[in-house]
Amino acid sequence: MKTMTCRDLGGPCDLEHHGESADDVINAQDRHLKEAVKAGDTAHEPARNDMKGRWRHPKKAMGWYRDTKQAFADLPADGLADSADSAD
Ligand SMILES: [Zn+2]
Repeated sequence: MKTMTCRDLGGPCDLEHHGESADDVINAQDRHLKEAVKAGDTAHEPARNDMKGRWRHPKKAMGWYRDTKQAFADLPADGLADSADSAD
């Protein structure tokens, strides 16, 4: 399990998304953006529009997905960072 924030994914706030894969956090962010905009949060509109554009133009969005997946892969797993030295 790893954590990326709304901000890590191009959004304006620090809400945390937890997932086993980059796809999990991307989908969580997509839901979060939809809900925020639906609730009248204009700060999330640009990120929401970017995300919509990515679904519509998947080829153009490949770079973003690659970067996001790489960023996710580089993250330490939740809960492991503090205990790495004391394991075993
Ligand atoms: Zn947000």
